[in-house]
Amino acid sequence: MTGRVLIAGGGEAGLSIATTLRDLGYGGDVCIVTAEDTPPYQRPPLSKEFLHHDAELTSVQLRAPEFFLDRGIDLLLGRTVEAATLNDSGGLAVLDDGTEIAFDKLALATGSTPLTLPVPGMDLPGVVSLRTLADASRLRSELDRARRVVVVGGGFIGLEVAATARNRGLDVSVIQAGDRLMSRVVAEPVSSFIHEYHTTQGIRIVLETKVTGVNAQNGRVDSVELHSGESIPADLVVVGVGAEPVTGLAERLGLACERGIVVDAHARTSHPAVVAAGDCTVQPHPNGRNRLIAIESVNNATEQGRTAAYTLLGRSPGTRGVPWFWSNQGALKLQIAGLSDGYDDIIVRRDSTERLTVLYYRMGDLLAADSVNNPRDHMAVKRALADGNTIDPVCAANTAVPLKSLITHRTEIKHAQRVP
Ligand code: NAP
Repeated sequence: MTGRVLIAGGGEAGLSIATTLRDLGYGGDVCIVTAEDTPPYQRPPLSKEFLHHDAELTSVQLRAPEFFLDRGIDLLLGRTVEAATLNDSGGLAVLDDGTEIAFDKLALATGSTPLTLPVPGMDLPGVVSLRTLADASRLRSELDRARRVVVVGGGFIGLEVAATARNRGLDVSVIQAGDRLMSRVVAEPVSSFIHEYHTTQGIRIVLETKVTGVNAQNGRVDSVELHSGESIPADLVVVGVGAEPVTGLAERLGLACERGIVVDAHARTSHPAVVAAGDCTVQPHPNGRNRLIAIESVNNATEQGRTAAYTLLGRSPGTRGVPWFWSNQGALKLQIAGLSDGYDDIIVRRDSTERLTVLYYRMGDLLAADSVNNPRDHMAVKRALADGNTIDPVCAANTAVPLKSLITHRTEIKHAQRVP
């Protein structure tokens, strides 16, 4: 296939589509249009290493500038695709500056954008959210001058930034709406473990309350008002209350969207000339459950981007790997293998205050595991899931027994459970 693939979005998913097309020998034009002023970069360090005083911009680059020249990938920085006309054999895109680009296939990798809070004071200097490199640079300068930081949201962004700020010696409070940390992704024992760790580091965690407003003094944030009536002094407020997929272009193109661009397992949208990948999508649940799921992770962005490139060339990408996630919060390393939603049982493995693994089961089958400072358990679960196997729940709580020795065929466990 020759012609041109136009990619809207220059994050991990957009880059994965472009590089996979070249790896597969695609000889046509490949053009990435990105709203950002910088070539594609890694997001995970932005809430951690990059926030330390001396991190270099180049440390987060995904590829050196010459890579794009060498691989014949055109990068249009600081531009967005605003509209396009589509037909079965391609279309014509219009950028925000009026430039028109013809394409044979369009790939949407438009990512997501941070949610804000509908309360007064969110636009004050000193109130920041974090998604882009520009956001992270701003946050880093704010951390250089801050003493008291209030983090709103006890999820990935909130806890990673809170740990980094505390490491920098700042006074840190985390405000979490729900009754435990990271409740969207982990079970209660993991939330408690994480809570204990951050509290021990000197971070104050306030649960089950919301921010009702942010106050200013001399034109800058000065304190945060809580629903409980408490007012917490702050010279920096970091908001990490979730993200929403960027679907505006997809909607204008008339593509099916349901809180994300709807794609199938091959990254195909509802139009034959358009694929989509990464945080902007919802896809069929990999565990065969009858619903769409948003998988917000670097691993998904790169794998789904790869799948999209195969699809564009009419080739089969083969099977996808096991979804996995990680979050480094100071010395705490959380690794997640698989998708735990829909679980009906958990097994907790804990032998010390240092390590923890929680395994998730549904009708006796292993779905996923969260491992904290426990890479061996993480690898064992990933392997079991990749091979379509399970881990015997009867012995899984015994930390003296390595998890990898408990990997077994799903059918054997089911059979054993039926035998009295
Ligand atoms: P998140 O992980 O969904 O966490 C949002 C947190 O904010 C939840 O704990 C939520 O609590 C809380 N919250 C919601 N509304 C609130 C309110 N009004 N007041 C106080 N707390 C509130 O989202 P995120 O941390 O903002 O991250 C954004 C995106 O970046 C996500 O897609 C995430 O996957 C991605 N990310 C991933 C990583 C990683 O994989 N390591 C790191 C950084 C970012 P409830 O659940 O109780 O509502």
